[in-house]
Amino acid sequence: MEFKLIKTSGFIATNTYIFERNGEIFVVDPGFGIGEYLERKPVKVLLTHGHYDHIAGLVELNVVDVYISKEDKELLYDSNKNFSRLFGKNFIFKGKTKDIDKHFYTIKTPGHTLGSRIIIIEDLIFTGDTIFCNTIGRSDLGGSKELMNKTIKNLNELFLDFDENMFILPGHEKICKISDLFKFNPFFKRGII
Ligand SMILES: [Zn+2]
Repeated sequence: MEFKLIKTSGFIATNTYIFERNGEIFVVDPGFGIGEYLERKPVKVLLTHGHYDHIAGLVELNVVDVYISKEDKELLYDSNKNFSRLFGKNFIFKGKTKDIDKHFYTIKTPGHTLGSRIIIIEDLIFTGDTIFCNTIGRSDLGGSKELMNKTIKNLNELFLDFDENMFILPGHEKICKISDLFKFNPFFKRGII
């Protein structure tokens, strides 16, 4: 499926993804400055997790619905937990959210945050800060190392059965395909689990 990757600028470069489906525009993890790419078109927002660099652009958008996990929802309303305080901001989202698990195909991937999700739309796998093409995400920002280890093991197993041409679309850095993950990411291996 076609998608657009916008590398947002500002304090941290975040990968924000935009795609259209059934005449609707979807934005995954709106980073700071994303508003200028969408003017005021109505959009549905999917969040892999609730950290500030993935939600900062929410206030710039004409949001129809925001989808996030039940566990990470509170991060939107707490500037300490979403870490905007760390950047000298007091980001608190004013709108409502919907449970992403009820409306989209997600995989529960606790570790980077307790409510992190991988979102799968056709051949696109939005991995947030859980996995990157060459490594995995941090677990010291409100997450859990133990849960992260379990999550990676699960994903390793799961991705072995997926089409290797599916896109891995992380929250930062470059994008790749599942086949690259097994070639270049030392946390992903074939045949030994
Ligand atoms: Zn994060």
